[in-house]
Amino acid sequence: MPLWKCQVCGLVLEGPEPPDKCPRCGAPKEQFKLLSDQEAQLVTRSRKSNYLHMKAVTLLQELLKIAEEGIQDNLDPPCVKIFTEEKEFALLTIQKIMAELEVHMKKGKWG
Ligand SMILES: [Zn+2]
Repeated sequence: MPLWKCQVCGLVLEGPEPPDKCPRCGAPKEQFKLLSDQEAQLVTRSRKSNYLHMKAVTLLQELLKIAEEGIQDNLDPPCVKIFTEEKEFALLTIQKIMAELEVHMKKGKWG
């Protein structure tokens, strides 16, 4: 399915034809440009990568909950140490992913 990019706001849409007007910025149909195969592939790959990042965030949030429960449980110092490291890892990695996703959005060039 062809991909169309709004030249005004960068929104990328999939469809046999461009929309009558951009659902994001209201630009007319003429502002939509058909992406080349190469450009379309970048968009598809970028979307996949974003999806994988979001999946990882979901898992890390789960790990965060587990780690916090373990810290609360407070069985003994070695256990608390492991849970604390898990918590730090999860928090740091979530931050990194969110920062990277924000860069993707700002660049806006791959939809
Ligand atoms: Zn637009």
